[in-house]
Amino acid sequence: MTTFTLPGIRDVGRDPQHWTLPAVDMPNSPNIVPTPDSTAFVTFEGTFLGFGTTRKPTHLRHHGAFADPALGEKCNACRWSEIRIFYSKEDDIYLIHLSGISVASGESNRYRIERAVSALEVIEILTTNRQGEAARLSAPASRALAQAAEFDEDLREAYGERRARL
Ligand SMILES: [Zn+2]
Repeated sequence: MTTFTLPGIRDVGRDPQHWTLPAVDMPNSPNIVPTPDSTAFVTFEGTFLGFGTTRKPTHLRHHGAFADPALGEKCNACRWSEIRIFYSKEDDIYLIHLSGISVASGESNRYRIERAVSALEVIEILTTNRQGEAARLSAPASRALAQAAEFDEDLREAYGERRARL
């Protein structure tokens, strides 16, 4: 069985490492290794540049054990998203790993990975374009990019330009 650990904030900015991360439902991605339990994993060598999450430590009030979206309940201790930005020197490519985590019973996590050849493309992937709203960077995307800016000059420049425009 393939094992994986989603790296956390303490892993940001260290030397390049070999990562095995879950990345489901991305049939167009190269390097995806399907496993018998139908979970796909992507493996790569890279530097972990930045991490952002919408997770909240405490639950909001909800009727059941977990927030019920059908009742309009939203709780970021029940369900949250995570963003991880990596850089692979070998392939000269950025990898953006996106997770939708749920601890609600009967639900599973969702993962996907996006590849970007430029820092600007990383910004575009992380830019939220909701209909009727101005394009913006979400709070976790901004946090991840601000961390990445510390370690990657191209991302620092692209993030600085985007901040000046938003
Ligand atoms: Zn909750």
